[in-house]
Amino acid sequence: MSNRVYDAIVIGGGLHGLSAAMHLARRGARVVVVEKHWVGRHASGATAAGVRTLNRDLGELDLSLEAMDMWHDMAGLVGDDCGFHPNGQVCVAEHPDALAKLQTRVDGLRAAGYTHEEIVGPDELRRILPELSTHCVGASIARRDGAADPHRALRAFRRSAMQAGVELVEHCGVVAIERQGADWRVVGDSGPDGAARTWTAPAIVNAAGAWGARMAALVGDDIPLATKSSMMMVSERLRPFIKPVVSIMGRSLSFKQSDQGTLVIGGGLQGIPDLDKETSTARMGVLAKGAKASTDLFPAVRDIRIVRVWAGLEAKTEDLLPVVCPSPGAPGVFHAFGYSGHGFELVPVVGAALADLVLTGKTARAIQNLDARRLMPGAPKDAGTPWVTGAPKPAPEKVPASTQGAAQSTVQGAPS
Ligand SMILES: Cc1cc2nc3c(=O)[nH]c(=O)nc-3n(C[C@H](O)[C@H](O)[C@H](O)COP(=O)(O)OP(=O)(O)OC[C@H]3O[C@@H](n4cnc5c(N)ncnc54)[C@H](O)[C@@H]3O)c2cc1C
Repeated sequence: MSNRVYDAIVIGGGLHGLSAAMHLARRGARVVVVEKHWVGRHASGATAAGVRTLNRDLGELDLSLEAMDMWHDMAGLVGDDCGFHPNGQVCVAEHPDALAKLQTRVDGLRAAGYTHEEIVGPDELRRILPELSTHCVGASIARRDGAADPHRALRAFRRSAMQAGVELVEHCGVVAIERQGADWRVVGDSGPDGAARTWTAPAIVNAAGAWGARMAALVGDDIPLATKSSMMMVSERLRPFIKPVVSIMGRSLSFKQSDQGTLVIGGGLQGIPDLDKETSTARMGVLAKGAKASTDLFPAVRDIRIVRVWAGLEAKTEDLLPVVCPSPGAPGVFHAFGYSGHGFELVPVVGAALADLVLTGKTARAIQNLDARRLMPGAPKDAGTPWVTGAPKPAPEKVPASTQGAAQSTVQGAPS
């Protein structure tokens, strides 16, 4: 049995684990990432890679806006732009009621000091999306949003982490976490030689995705989590005809065209998850709804072929906001999971926030609404988050709650 000593152990080699490890190592920490399968095996390899601030819940909007700035300099962060194209994200209204709801949200955002979303009328919408069906009456748009290439992102974050000195252990699932004096000892399942593998460090980052609550339970934190099984479909290659990512107010759809010409269609349509088997099964009847929404919006795609579908596993919280915080009960453990279908965009900033927390115990990043205790039975809900040192943010209640809910019902918690 070997037992190596580190400053931090990261559980999970998805994008969030890699980002946290990279930021930590760049600040001088000795870090190991322990991944049960291989980098990108789960949500980070299945993602639609939408980079979206549009229709974000106010509870994570400041964090998302900081992440967006980082996406606009992604090459500076990880040496590759990760295929990020800031062609905007558009939420289309098919009727005046839907447009009114989008307008109310944008007005509320303005009142709270946010200017990243705006309303566009039919003429501007037609200029942005010339092949959009004429029944659409307007849209909200976040022009700095866009989409990236998830596999380039995985390669870039993995390479950057390893260049910073991160050790990566794949094909090793964490099975136990034990207290050892002031440190934590993480036990992985047996390696090829049958010997147990262990690592010791004063800090652990739990970035185990859909299995985040199971890792949290190993240190005594009971954090209720549900599981999403978001589905995607990809078409044959088509001539280029759309640049932004498109969603619809009140319906499940995220629709974009890749650099290769394929359409990448998702939007939170759910397959069948199985956490124990680590499988996620696509449901064709449900995917048909995404196909119908696509052809309603873009009649020209009515006769194209879908060449591939898949579904990916991810944790979902009750309020669809992630958990990013110190463990309520286990000093030195930090949780980061529950992105509920929209964690890709947050990758660069959450890793930085976790590095702040691990190395200094505090962060100026806006994670004050992401404390696990809001979800935990019996935990104090108003104990405050003294680990967040940033300036107070505009009050979320300035955006009318009903409008928030209406807008979010289309995209919040859905891949975009
Ligand atoms: C189909 C789909 C589409 C999406 N589209 C978008 C989008 O357009 N925009 C957006 O912002 N977000 C999107 N998301 C969400 C986004 O992809 C995720 O929020 C993000 O990838 C989560 O990254 P992660 O590193 O937390 O999790 P993961 O990538 O799932 O990584 C967690 C890792 O932990 C490992 N692990 C689990 N248990 C253990 C253990 N015991 N020991 C060691 N390792 C363990 C797993 O094997 C896994 O590799 C989508 C998700 C899906 C599934």
